Amino acid sequence: MANTLVQQALLSLDIDAARLLRRIEELGRIGRDPATGGISREGFSPADREARTYLMNEARAAGLVPAVDAAGNVVIRPRPVAHGEERQALMMGSHLDTVVNGGRLDGAYGVLAALEVLQTFEESGIEPRYEPVAVAFANEEGALFPQPFWGSMAIAGRLAGLPREPADHHGRPLREALRLAGGDLDALGSAGWPRGSVAAYLELHVEQGPVLERSGNRIGVVDAITGRIVLTLEVTGSAGHSGTTPMEGRRDALTAAARVVLATENLSRDRGLCRVATVGRLEAHPNTPNTIAGAVRMTVDLRDTDVWRAAAAEEALRYALRVIAESTGTRIEVVAETRSDPVSTSRTLQRAIENSADELGLPSEVLSSGAGHDAQMVADIAPIGMIFVPSIGGISHVPEEDTAAVDLVDGARVLLRTVLRTVDHAE
Ligand SMILES: [Zn+2]
Repeated sequence: MANTLVQQALLSLDIDAARLLRRIEELGRIGRDPATGGISREGFSPADREARTYLMNEARAAGLVPAVDAAGNVVIRPRPVAHGEERQALMMGSHLDTVVNGGRLDGAYGVLAALEVLQTFEESGIEPRYEPVAVAFANEEGALFPQPFWGSMAIAGRLAGLPREPADHHGRPLREALRLAGGDLDALGSAGWPRGSVAAYLELHVEQGPVLERSGNRIGVVDAITGRIVLTLEVTGSAGHSGTTPMEGRRDALTAAARVVLATENLSRDRGLCRVATVGRLEAHPNTPNTIAGAVRMTVDLRDTDVWRAAAAEEALRYALRVIAESTGTRIEVVAETRSDPVSTSRTLQRAIENSADELGLPSEVLSSGAGHDAQMVADIAPIGMIFVPSIGGISHVPEEDTAAVDLVDGARVLLRTVLRTVDHAE
C-alpha cells in the first residue's frame, strides 16, 4: 500500500469488543431452554427465524444492508450495489442455526464476528479493494430439515436442480418454512455466486475439540476440513431362541455387528488408516433379551483430511466385512453411503491468519477440522480460510459449549487483521 497514513489507520483499526460480546449474549437467549441452558434453533424453525431477524435488525441499526437470498441465507453488505458496479467480495460468515439443545457459539460466533468486522470497516471509512460481505448461511446443521449445508451449497451453486421436494423429519415441506424465512424454493439457482465473484472466504469458528486447549495456543489456523464417509450396514443372520438354539451353527447378527464395531475402531486406532472411525448407531432386531438377533442396522463414520487415506480405510473395512460375514454365517450389506471430500484451505490465507495472530501476540498452531463447516461448500467457488478459537473442555453441540470472552474477542481481532491483510496483499 502506497499511502502510509492509510496503512497506519489500518493498523490501528480494532473491533468493538463490548459490542461483539453483547450481541453474543443477546443472540444466545434466542431458542434457549431455561432449564438446561441449551439452544435449540433448528434451521427454519421459529427460533431460527427470530435469530435471523435479530441479526438483520442489528445490521440495519449499524447502517448496513441485510437481504435474504432464495435459499434463505442472510447476506449483509455495506450498502446496496448498483448493477454493473459489483466488486469481488471478501466473504465472511458461518451459520445461526443449531442442533437440538446445542451451544450458543457454534456458528453464531462466526456470524456475529463477521458482522462486527464489516461494521468496523464501515465506521472506519476505509474503502477496501474488495467488498466485505457477511453471510449467515441457512440450515448448516440440518437438525430439522435433513439437508445440512443447505445455504452454503446454494451459494456454491450446488442446489440449482433438486431431485425432489425437500421436507423435514415429519414430512412438512421446506417450501413453506423457506418462504417464511424470506427464501424462494423455485428460485434457488439465483442464490449461487459465480466462481470468481468471491476473492476469499473466511470463517471464524469455535474449535469444538480439545487441541487448542491442550496446547495452550490461542488461535487455530485450519489447514484442511475433514472428509467423511458414512456407510449404513445391514447385518442379516437368523433369529432364534437364546435358550434352545445351540451355540453351534448360530448366525447371530449382533455378534457379527460387534466384530464390525471393533474392526471399525481398529481401522484408526491400531492400523492408522484414517484419522477417526466410529460406529455411532446400532439397532438390533428384535432386540429382546432372550432372542438371538436376526438383523442389525448400523452406521460407520470414517473421517480423514486425505481423500486417499479415507478411501483406503473404506477398502479395508469392506474387506473386514467380508471376513466377518463369512466367519459368523451372516450377510453384511452396505445399503447406503454418503461421502463428502476433504477440503484444503488456501495457503495464502493460512499465512495471513498466522501473521495476524503473531501481530496480536497470540500463539497459533496449524490444525485440521474434524467437523464439517460451510467453508467446505464455499471452497467450490473461492479460496477459503478458517480460524479456530479454543473450546473450553473441547466440547460442542451441548449446552456447556463455551469459549473464554478474551478468546472470542481475540478471534474476531484476528479475523479483522486477516481481512485487512487479504485486502492489502491479494491480486
Ligand atoms: Zn458450526
